[in-house]
Amino acid sequence: MTIYPPHLQIIDPRFRELVHGMSQLERIATGFTWTEGPVWFGDHGCLLFSDIPSERLMRWSEHDGVSVFRRATKFNNGNSRDLHGRLIGCRHGTRDVVRTEADGSLTVLTAEFEGKRLNSPNDLVMASDGALWFTDPTYGIISNFEGWRAVPEQATRNVYRLGPDGQMQAMIRDFIQPNGLAFSPDEKRLYVAESSKSHDLSVPPVIRMFDVEPGAVHDRGIFCTLDNGFPDGLRVDIAGNVWTSAGDGVHCFAPDGTLLGKILVPEQVANLCFGGADGHRLFITATTSVYSIFVDTVGAEHWTRRSRDPGAVCAA
Ligand code: MG
Repeated sequence: MTIYPPHLQIIDPRFRELVHGMSQLERIATGFTWTEGPVWFGDHGCLLFSDIPSERLMRWSEHDGVSVFRRATKFNNGNSRDLHGRLIGCRHGTRDVVRTEADGSLTVLTAEFEGKRLNSPNDLVMASDGALWFTDPTYGIISNFEGWRAVPEQATRNVYRLGPDGQMQAMIRDFIQPNGLAFSPDEKRLYVAESSKSHDLSVPPVIRMFDVEPGAVHDRGIFCTLDNGFPDGLRVDIAGNVWTSAGDGVHCFAPDGTLLGKILVPEQVANLCFGGADGHRLFITATTSVYSIFVDTVGAEHWTRRSRDPGAVCAA
């Protein structure tokens, strides 16, 4: 029987298939303030991530270690890739969603809804139909720590869908603070984190689930409630398991909502992504550091497959 190291907590036997007793939790970068937005660029063998308060996008690779990818990011938070492999990100300062072009220039994809400025886009994912889904809580405007303090113009904190035709829809309007989001492998289900416990302990730390249909989503209730901290960023693997940030590390839930196990991390985790040469490496942004651990699954997100395509854009 495998003896698991203390940073791997097996709660359900199924978790043994997803982790390995030899897998170490490695701190691959440190010295930051609040790391977020990890995204893997397999075509460049590198990870990009945000250090929000210092307004930097950082680059890490096995070969080169850590370097600054971009400065003065306007408090860039969540990152992902579009169908062409281009970097897309959420900026608190300018309260917009931007795409990085091949020449390194930025294109603003959206900054307002119904004629009013967005709150502070937080995290995003692109569906295979080219629609960009993102969350718009107020974290970037409630202080000057990770954005610029401002009065919200939107009445609610929404989950938006920006269609490939440029049409923007508020798909979900009843979150207190929507945060990380991810699709199931078949994209029929959307998971969204409610992170409002960060500032209001009375709000349950839940991940909600929604069935996705053309033009609408249907609320299917609470997928899971965390027993430590609150959920921020999350990812789904190819088997449909949900890996979410939590107060004590990363929690992994089966598609039926059962807690399978935890990867305990010594700092508060904000986000994570799958990557590495074979996609089997989990990268974890946690407060001042970035950690990684080899796991026995790969991410379901389309960018994971795209990230292996030659020609995907990253001026790294
Ligand atoms: Mg977030």
